[in-house]
Amino acid sequence: MKKIQFWFMLLCLILLSSWGCQTQTEPVVDGASGIGDPYYPQMGNGGYDVQNYTIALDVDPHANTINGSTTILANATEHLGSFNLDFHALTVNSVLVDNIPAEFSRDEDEMTVTPSKPLALNRPFTVVVNYHGTPELITFDAFPIEMGWSHAQDGTINVWGEPNAAYTWFPNNNHPRDKASYRFEITVPKPWIVAASGSLKETKQDGDKTLFVWEMEQPMASYLASINIDQYELFTQKGPGGMTIRSYFPPDYPETLRIGFNILPSAIDFFDDLFGPYPFDEYGVVISDNTAPCNTVDTALEVQSLSIHCPSEVMASERVIIHELAHQWFGDSISLENWKDIWLKEGLAVYSEWLWESKNDPAALARIAKLHRSGFFDSPASVGEPPPDGLYSDETYRGGALVLQALRLQIGDEAFLELLKTYAERYRYGNAGTDEFIALAEEVSRQDLKGFFDQWLFSQRMPDLPD
Ligand SMILES: [Zn+2]
Repeated sequence: MKKIQFWFMLLCLILLSSWGCQTQTEPVVDGASGIGDPYYPQMGNGGYDVQNYTIALDVDPHANTINGSTTILANATEHLGSFNLDFHALTVNSVLVDNIPAEFSRDEDEMTVTPSKPLALNRPFTVVVNYHGTPELITFDAFPIEMGWSHAQDGTINVWGEPNAAYTWFPNNNHPRDKASYRFEITVPKPWIVAASGSLKETKQDGDKTLFVWEMEQPMASYLASINIDQYELFTQKGPGGMTIRSYFPPDYPETLRIGFNILPSAIDFFDDLFGPYPFDEYGVVISDNTAPCNTVDTALEVQSLSIHCPSEVMASERVIIHELAHQWFGDSISLENWKDIWLKEGLAVYSEWLWESKNDPAALARIAKLHRSGFFDSPASVGEPPPDGLYSDETYRGGALVLQALRLQIGDEAFLELLKTYAERYRYGNAGTDEFIALAEEVSRQDLKGFFDQWLFSQRMPDLPD
């Protein structure tokens, strides 16, 4: 080593926080336009890892217009000459990278940002995107129903993000693999109320407007970020350990449906025992308006810490309430690695319905599962490899739960329950896919389960459940 190189490296070590030491060796690259999901190559982006989004919007509920900014704090995972954000339709006023105006171009839903100078590997950078306009709903191959920023004539707004509609209202790395914390600073005219993922930190009156500040401190996938604007009535309960359960009901939401949500404290307690502690600070639900997607499909979505339910009677049923709650452990705290792993989150949520219904009594569970097996028709797809244009099928939901019941019978009650708890704990706030789940099932049960999963998860004809 030449002496001058030695002193240069020493200087780099001393000035670790200084700009440029690593730029000497790493070639400058353009960040990829996809994160690497085998089913949806354009989803998400490469070259950086988002730490935090701060979404600051001034919303006019009647006009359905927004004006504001999203600030992204990220780390560069490559020496970046440019990088992409996913963003749909809204008009971008300007982009700043580390407070310096950056060039940007747009090609459909891909926005390419070119900073004034390359971003060093492994160093944090900040992007501010200023934008305005009227958000548009989208449809997608995997779920051909309008999703995203949904607006009702009376001014009510609900955001439904799964699987990729987050980019209808803020620019982001639109894939569950890149999770981040969130801050929402949403300003609305009085008397509108904002309910979002996370905890309400502050409300500030400013003339005829109100600012609502919500924060989700635990990592969250972009599709689980949601804000909802209505003239809500707030209903609070105390959960296990004194946790706050806060639900937001529209004024005309009937009392007969509201009381369905009274089960939440005991349901959280039930799953705390089975899966380990509830993963977020608060829980609750928000009832959506009857606009998209509720005007097409009766549904609910496990928004992190604030599940959103369509206003129907079915969506206030015990089964649906339990399903969305269970997703907080499986789907939210543990995000999918790839969208093809969707059976894991949906299968576990449906299985949680059966756990609740049977009170985890093995004989009752076996009866419930048998009943579902008899009503289940195999399609040409396997549970573990759904078609990219049909993620949300009976295979994914009931099929996934049947695989889990078969696994329980294969490895025994004790190992199966240990598997659920260990899985929730080991991958808490992270990502896991089918491979991780199979490896953990083998580890906990000390069985070689390759033959089992080949038969149950990857073959097109599902076996019958053993007695
Ligand atoms: Zn679900």
